[in-house]
Amino acid sequence: MNKNDFPILSQSVYHRPLIYLDNAATTQKPEAMLDAMQYAYTHFNANIHRGVHHLSQVATTHHEESRATVARFLHAASPDEIIFTKGTTDAINLLAFSLGETCVHDGDEIIVSYVEHHSNIVPWQMLCERKHATLKVIPLKDDLTLDMDAYSSLLTDRTRLVAVAHVSNVLGTMNPVEDIIRLAHLKHIPVLIDGAQSAPHLPIDVQALDCDFFACSAHKIYGPTGLGVLYGKTEWLNLLPPAQGGGEMINHVSFDHTTYNTLPYKFEAGTPDFIGSYAFAQSLDYISNITMTAIADHERELCLYAESRLSAVPGIHIYAAGQPKYGVISFNAYTPSGTLIHPFDIGTLLDRQGIAVRTGHHCAEPLIDHLGVPGTVRLSFALYNDHNDIDAFIAALTKALAMLS
Ligand code: PMP
Repeated sequence: MNKNDFPILSQSVYHRPLIYLDNAATTQKPEAMLDAMQYAYTHFNANIHRGVHHLSQVATTHHEESRATVARFLHAASPDEIIFTKGTTDAINLLAFSLGETCVHDGDEIIVSYVEHHSNIVPWQMLCERKHATLKVIPLKDDLTLDMDAYSSLLTDRTRLVAVAHVSNVLGTMNPVEDIIRLAHLKHIPVLIDGAQSAPHLPIDVQALDCDFFACSAHKIYGPTGLGVLYGKTEWLNLLPPAQGGGEMINHVSFDHTTYNTLPYKFEAGTPDFIGSYAFAQSLDYISNITMTAIADHERELCLYAESRLSAVPGIHIYAAGQPKYGVISFNAYTPSGTLIHPFDIGTLLDRQGIAVRTGHHCAEPLIDHLGVPGTVRLSFALYNDHNDIDAFIAALTKALAMLS
């Protein structure tokens, strides 16, 4: 793992070396990806698919090769199952509209879990409002794991989709997605996995998982912003209508009748981000060379080390303490008299020492309300973090707490 491959990390913040522990929000970019953006704009910038000319053909080839790279990264059966979107949020909204139009009617039900990011709550709430359907929520047990007995009893003949996060962006814990999918499939209910926080940290095999849909964001996987992926099984994608109309997604248009393109273009109206897709493929090649298994091992070790060091700091409460974590740890700090120190104050004092963490509700307000706090301090890792980063973080935290207690 080479930090030097990530130019942004060599800078100082407030005259301190930058220590970036906000990777769940977005990851930094390897030089290979930055060079690829520059290369693409200087060598083959031309709109794809429609052009007979050379540049357009080169751009088209790169875009489709990038789709194949993403398909390999997720172990999809075919590149046709990879729809480029603007990100995880866009992917989930696409599905909410498309599946909602076809499969969800008055009195139907959608299931989400208590640990979801707003992106995997609000689109389903909006759909339920449109269609007079009901949103049901898998509750949490005391140890902050999902109550799977409750889940089983939520599955009914009216359930049209189960949508759950693979890894929680607040707790860093993994949901039992294999069991969630298996139980849903017993009733022929499709499952969407929100993989925004798993795809950067774990090898993903959508076929082994047997999920029907999987969403993730390029910017959290060392790729560019404004790009994401919706994976869908071919049989589902063929069944669903397009979510947006426009160029690219059509086969033939007349004022009387329009027919739609084949997969995956049916879901990609307008000019896609073909520069972004090319750059993303370079990021995926970069991490494939390291291997996702090595990245997962490295980050698991970092989480264990960080959790053991954090738990030795007086007044710290780690959420889901002791459970395996995938790149993310959330905590709060209390004064000796038991008063919560506001996460924002800790984040601000860490920032002044060059340490970037995230504080607040992390776009998961229902979970944060359940925890009964105004927010948490969240540190999150990427392949370039190391023990020195964690040691610097602990030293800075100790100083911050001394000032705030
Ligand atoms: N789901 C989860 C679990 C996330 O962590 C995030 C990003 N914080 C999202 C969805 C939304 O991702 P994006 O903002 O890239 O669309």
